[in-house]
Amino acid sequence: MALFDPPGQSETGPDQEVGPALRDRFGRRFSYLRLSLTERCNFRCTYCLPNGFIAQKGLPPELTRDEIGRAVGAFSKLGLWKVRLTGGEPTVRSDFTDIARDIAGQPDIRRVAMTTNGYRLAREAESWRAAGIDAVNVSIDTLDRARFAQVTGRDMLDQVIAGVDNALDAGFSAVKINSVLLPEIGAPDWDAILGFVAERNVTWRFIELMRTNGNSAEFRSQVHASQAIREKLEGSGWTQRDRGEGAGPATEYVHPDFRGRIGLITPYGEGFCDSCNRLRLSSRGRLHLCLFGEQGYDLRRLLERDDQQEELIETIARALPDKTQGHRLHEGDSGATPHLASIGG
Ligand code: SAM
Ligand code: SF4
Repeated sequence: MALFDPPGQSETGPDQEVGPALRDRFGRRFSYLRLSLTERCNFRCTYCLPNGFIAQKGLPPELTRDEIGRAVGAFSKLGLWKVRLTGGEPTVRSDFTDIARDIAGQPDIRRVAMTTNGYRLAREAESWRAAGIDAVNVSIDTLDRARFAQVTGRDMLDQVIAGVDNALDAGFSAVKINSVLLPEIGAPDWDAILGFVAERNVTWRFIELMRTNGNSAEFRSQVHASQAIREKLEGSGWTQRDRGEGAGPATEYVHPDFRGRIGLITPYGEGFCDSCNRLRLSSRGRLHLCLFGEQGYDLRRLLERDDQQEELIETIARALPDKTQGHRLHEGDSGATPHLASIGG
């Protein structure tokens, strides 16, 4: 059964004691909402949307700015204080900055983060920071321009790197790079990545490719490279940083000669789901308890009016007992997830 803890008793530290904490039957507490603003994307990453975004007929439209505001309000009343804007590519929405500003202005929201492919970041970093976004994750799978174009379908590496540099100048509290380990790239371009991390205060996070229903053929040829990276780091003076309470899923390494850090996200690793602290809302208003779970719970009918908030809160809390202990990726089961763009990676 889902339980509420009173304020001030969250395991995740005093910074986060903003309200009752929603808890599942495995004792995990939920502080973090991943909000997908759209399934649309202007890139065609080979492992995510290899044919680009193709609109499906008959689906409900994306949540409006007002519906998003109501949803965030309800989740924040349940103790979720951090929101990440994701997608699809969230910044293809013309009202992206307004949505971010609305959410950052909600009384119980402490942190707004975003995940982007970076195509608008060089131009918009300052205005997004001014709108109240605190932290930004940018996806860069390789620093080789030709391979970047091959993987994403867009020859935009230089613009994306300029975006990272502008984000660092704009004063975000954290700038992280998401870098999926891919067979077509082979071993990471190690020297280029080390040079990038030496000069910049970023965390470069290698992510094991996760199997989805859309990339299972490609996935079969995948060899997990994270263990090799771990050995490389540990053999060359990098040390593992202590994981603070409420830390994200990455194991992080630091080195005295580098301004930045290197992280590893290993969803196939043991205990990966034990510290799960997040819930997801799709761009069409479905609550997802796991990235690789069920079809989702439709919340949309409860987002129409402000006076539905109580029922909305009860509906979210009632869904929580269905959250499973972990994903079943090891068994080749990706749940109902066609690709990560569909519910927000
Ligand atoms: N479009 C934005 C972007 O690419 O950053 C946000 C959405 S994207 C789905 C979020 C993150 O999920 C990206 O860093 C992407 O590389 C990662 N991702 C997508 N599919 C993945 C998969 N099958 N396995 C691991 N990571 C994946
Ligand atoms: Fe688009 Fe992000 Fe998926 Fe790449 S990973 S296709 S940028 S949603």
